[in-house]
Amino acid sequence: KKMDMETLVGLCKSRGFIFPGSDIYGGLANTWDYGPLGIELLNNIKAAWWKKFVKRNLNVVGLDSALLMNPKVWEASGHIGGFNDPLVDCKDCKARYRADKLVEDYYQSKGEEATGVDGWDQQELKNFIEEKEIKCPQCGKLNYTDIREFNLMFKTFQGVTEDSQSEVYLRPETAQGIFINFKNVARSCRKQVPFGIAQIGKSFRNEITPGNFIFRTREFEQMEMEFFIHPDEGEKWFKYWKEFCKQWLLDLGLNPDSIRMRDHEKEELSHYSDATTDIEFKFPFGWGELWGIANRTDFDLKRHMEYSKKDLSYQDPVTQEKYVPYVIEPSVGLNRLALAFLADCYQQEELDNDSRTVLKIHPVLAPFKAAVLPLSKKLSSEALEIHEKLSDKFMVDFDEKGSIGKRYRRQDEVGTPYCITYDFDSLEDNCVTIRNRDTMEQARVEINKVEQFLEDKLNY
Ligand code: ATP
Repeated sequence: KKMDMETLVGLCKSRGFIFPGSDIYGGLANTWDYGPLGIELLNNIKAAWWKKFVKRNLNVVGLDSALLMNPKVWEASGHIGGFNDPLVDCKDCKARYRADKLVEDYYQSKGEEATGVDGWDQQELKNFIEEKEIKCPQCGKLNYTDIREFNLMFKTFQGVTEDSQSEVYLRPETAQGIFINFKNVARSCRKQVPFGIAQIGKSFRNEITPGNFIFRTREFEQMEMEFFIHPDEGEKWFKYWKEFCKQWLLDLGLNPDSIRMRDHEKEELSHYSDATTDIEFKFPFGWGELWGIANRTDFDLKRHMEYSKKDLSYQDPVTQEKYVPYVIEPSVGLNRLALAFLADCYQQEELDNDSRTVLKIHPVLAPFKAAVLPLSKKLSSEALEIHEKLSDKFMVDFDEKGSIGKRYRRQDEVGTPYCITYDFDSLEDNCVTIRNRDTMEQARVEINKVEQFLEDKLNY
């Protein structure tokens, strides 16, 4: 049986995965701190992503670009200037909307196409809403505030003295750091199109409606790859990376019924995109975007050429053809992925005359790969030796407190796939008992073969 959101949030806190941010000060809305178990999970997800996207792909390389960038980057990308969101609030029920979206929905309800609404200014939007008496979808009133421009970027200041300070932004996506380094990477690593640049890092967005635990927060971590291709090969590579991402999820044990692919309608596409597919996940609160795969065309590189006045085109060394590459971008949120794995794998399991909470997560993602448990405290030093040896290779827990049954349960609850029990017989036969988290079956294994046993199970 799967968990509801409240139970999941409670388990994450009590088992050391995720704590409410600034807890002792009454919290800070929608911020979360990752505990000892949570950080292991995040690191394991990142490592699995890096392994399949970078390490195992000769034509993909990594990057770690600065979080703070020249503000011109954001003019070029459209984050400052052109594409700010015009927001309007209902004075009665306080619901908040994007004004352009209200207008578009109005057109759609009339069965008409909403062409050109994108370019409308605040006054045009306000006039239209009043003229057509577009009511608040939530409470049905027609009582809006003025429209205000909203920028999702966090603004801060660089420089220590008042007069030398200049405005900078925290990046709202990792992608732009990749685009502006396209030439640096291609040249220094002698990469030829098609090739990709991958990056993992924090992004910040002043989201209008954060919430649903770690699904949508203002500070989050992204794993993005920009794959540069010849403009004629968009369809082929778009399809390739869609499948690749889906397979990555399935290989890590996500239930196929928990995900679905959703293609964006033409009207829904971002200004820069030719085609977008979301891999959606069935979260406890409903289906939501997990991974966006987009054909960003040559939009970003062309805009950076325009704003930086640098040539970012590419010349094919064989055909000599010169062109601005298209880009296929799979972009996924690390925290959202963690939530998906936790929601998918946490189960309340009914046993014969008992029940247990168990996190049936792929061993590669499990925070602890194994736990060493001496049956009695008298056996601690021998058991610690095993822990000492294994911990050189794996993240391994050690627990000598409480009955063995309780200790098994504790490990089940944090997803440890193998419990290694050292008992009095071990002193004689040099073997330990290894218990499997999912089947609860136990097997006797020679101590000097335990390392190999784990290695085999963690083959990924
Ligand atoms: P949404 O429609 O949910 O706001 P988006 O379409 O704006 O997402 P993208 O800009 O495509 O998202 O970002 C790529 C990925 O980054 C998303 O699929 C999601 O996994 C993650 N992501 C985006 N915004 C957030 C956020 N505020 N909190 C956590 N993860 C996020």
